[in-house]
Amino acid sequence: MKIITLPSEAQRLSSALRNTGKIIGFVPTMGFLHEGHLSLIKKTRAICDVLFVSIYVNPTQFGKGEDYEKYPRDINRDILLCRQNGVDYLFTPDNKSIYPEGFSTYVDAGSITEVLEGRFRPGHFRGVATIVLKLFNIIQPHVAVFGQKDAQQAAIIRKMVRDLNVNTKILVRPTVREKDGLAMSSRNIYLNPRQRLDAGILYKALKYAENRISDKNFKKDLNYIKSRMEKLIKSKTTVSSIDYISFNNNNTLEEIKTLKNLSGVKILVSLAVRFGKVRLIDNIVVKR
Ligand code: AMP
Repeated sequence: MKIITLPSEAQRLSSALRNTGKIIGFVPTMGFLHEGHLSLIKKTRAICDVLFVSIYVNPTQFGKGEDYEKYPRDINRDILLCRQNGVDYLFTPDNKSIYPEGFSTYVDAGSITEVLEGRFRPGHFRGVATIVLKLFNIIQPHVAVFGQKDAQQAAIIRKMVRDLNVNTKILVRPTVREKDGLAMSSRNIYLNPRQRLDAGILYKALKYAENRISDKNFKKDLNYIKSRMEKLIKSKTTVSSIDYISFNNNNTLEEIKTLKNLSGVKILVSLAVRFGKVRLIDNIVVKR
């Protein structure tokens, strides 16, 4: 495995690989790798000739007061995991090479970035879309693979690729979970033991919604499901607040207010919950 830090070098290399007809696969990450990342890496390994992974904690997607400085990092462990999982090129640029002095061009995907996470993290998806497009221009992948864990991010990247004619196919892979259902996340390391125990409630609440929504005989509506989910989550003493529990069209992210006339629509049930200062997100996709 080769480690590359310069964008110009990665771009030269991927151009050369493309010219020899190799299919390039790419998994962008912020590192501190876990089984969720590895599932994307393994999938991409299986369907591509050349596998690029990036590890870059992108400052422009963190808001003021968020965890950019203390975001967990362990590059030596990540390098080992990438080696063990068949990564060919690990791209680990520094901030100066990604955002050189005078940098001023950003990608704004519009209203889809303003709902859900966007309401609580203004500017977050502008940073995400910008870094992903930059990485796509550097790595020039035929295929890039993302996780369903970050459902809104995946929807925004799909939209950006469509809107801007980016020549990369986007795949989205299922969320990998711990035994109790907690979605794997680099940020889970922030949870203290009591919070970690309580955090399993998020998946239980999502499964509750899935059961109700997919049951055609269920006569009540989404506000009932939402209040039951809130009750379940608030029963855990380490929960400090619920930022949102929301029902949206999985493709457009338009809010869904009622279960009426939803036959065939994929409903994204998503939530963001704080355990003390630790903010976790999760989601599940359900068909009525
Ligand atoms: P991150 O390092 O958090 O930016 O995540 C990098 C990629 O891994 C994104 O496409 C995430 O959606 C994906 N990812 C993160 N956690 C999981 C998980 N538990 N299961 C599947 N994919 C994940």
